Amino acid sequence: MPDLLIIGGGYAGLWAAMAAARRAQDQAQDSAADLNIRLLSKDAYLTHRPRLYESNPQDMRTPLAPVLEPIGVGLEIAEVTAIDAPRRRVRARTEHGAREYSYDGLILAAGSVLRPPPMELVNARVWNVDNLAAAVELDQHLKAVMATPKPAENGDTVVIIGAGFTGIELAAEMRARLGEHGGAARAAAARVILLDAAATVGEDIGPGPRPHILEALQAARVEVHLNAKIRRIEGDRIVLDDGGEIIAATVIVTAGVQANVLAAGLGLQTDAAGRLLVDAHLRVKGAPGLYAAGDMAHALTDASHVALMSCQHAMPMGKFAGYNAASDLLNLAALPYAQPRYVTCLDLGSWGAVFSTGWDRQVEMIKAEAKARKQFVMTEVIYPPMHDRKAILAAGAMEPAP
Ligand SMILES: Cc1cc2nc3c(=O)[nH]c(=O)nc-3n(C[C@H](O)[C@H](O)[C@H](O)COP(=O)(O)OP(=O)(O)OC[C@H]3O[C@@H](n4cnc5c(N)ncnc54)[C@H](O)[C@@H]3O)c2cc1C
Repeated sequence: MPDLLIIGGGYAGLWAAMAAARRAQDQAQDSAADLNIRLLSKDAYLTHRPRLYESNPQDMRTPLAPVLEPIGVGLEIAEVTAIDAPRRRVRARTEHGAREYSYDGLILAAGSVLRPPPMELVNARVWNVDNLAAAVELDQHLKAVMATPKPAENGDTVVIIGAGFTGIELAAEMRARLGEHGGAARAAAARVILLDAAATVGEDIGPGPRPHILEALQAARVEVHLNAKIRRIEGDRIVLDDGGEIIAATVIVTAGVQANVLAAGLGLQTDAAGRLLVDAHLRVKGAPGLYAAGDMAHALTDASHVALMSCQHAMPMGKFAGYNAASDLLNLAALPYAQPRYVTCLDLGSWGAVFSTGWDRQVEMIKAEAKARKQFVMTEVIYPPMHDRKAILAAGAMEPAP
């Protein structure tokens, strides 16, 4: 029986597993599936990275086993350290020591990590919300800061570096989070600063949503510092290129992500974010039997747009990669990946949210109406079904072409 291996238990990897299992089951009909599918993950959970800016980040994960077990996908807790594509082998660290896995087909879905700030600029503890452990640490730190009997010398000041998607959502939410830890009065007196080297907020988000973002940040009393180039972060002092200084107990970095280093390790061509170039079937160019999806894949969603590093793209890409890798091993026809619809929904704290459609981001909803859409996505769409084999396989079915 052919072996299909999936690396990564994020949105791309998990949805790939569901689609591959569904493809194998449809082919096998009443008999047992003719494919051995295993998913290797560093830990036993799907982490909901898009929710890590919220309060209670420790709750933002879903166990993998109740999704994989009912559909016969093996879960191995293993951190992949190297891929030997010509020999179709993967090396990994497990709790029992180093292990090698062989495969006939491999889906790379090990995601991305925050691009670290240049170390020569930073001599301080800075925080982030890139993964569950980091988000929980930040939360504990905020709790500790707000638990001090009176504000420290640096005040209850939070500086968020990077006014992109994550920085904006985090800034808009921050005062409420401080309030949960230290009371409304103390949180009301805190300073929340959003800092970016660019001349505008949400440079990549475009002009449509921007006025709403600015209105929401103003309502949340977020101080926006633009054209702010950091010279150095030393202890609790942020020194800017123009000589200005900000003293802050909390500095959070949100400035962009890069694909998992496993991509670079293959020695193949990658894009500026370190993603592997894939063809229309999500096969990695230059490596037979290898597929990539989610934040590791540079894929076209239509004739001219490249998928973003987002769960909106990672989930469908995962499904196509799972379907196609399984089809390949079962000698069935593959489907080209396409995702013409693109939407953006940005949480803007108690002001609400902004929802836009299309790559030019035409605003369609704002405030409470958009917030309801955001909450629907964050509490339902990104959660896989669990325990129920039928429901899980239904989630792995490919939708008819638009
Ligand atoms: C704070 C924040 C907010 C975001 N907000 C949004 C949003 O609003 N909307 C949106 O669409 N997207 C958002 N994103 C982006 C989105 O979370 C990612 O694009 C998405 O998680 C990518 O899915 P993925 O499956 O490719 O990778 P990941 O979700 O990163 O999953 C990768 C998986 O691989 C595992 N892994 C990594 N290395 C190894 C290894 N060596 N061996 C084994 N397993 C490994 C990891 O543990 C993880 O389970 C946000 C991201 C962050 C950090």
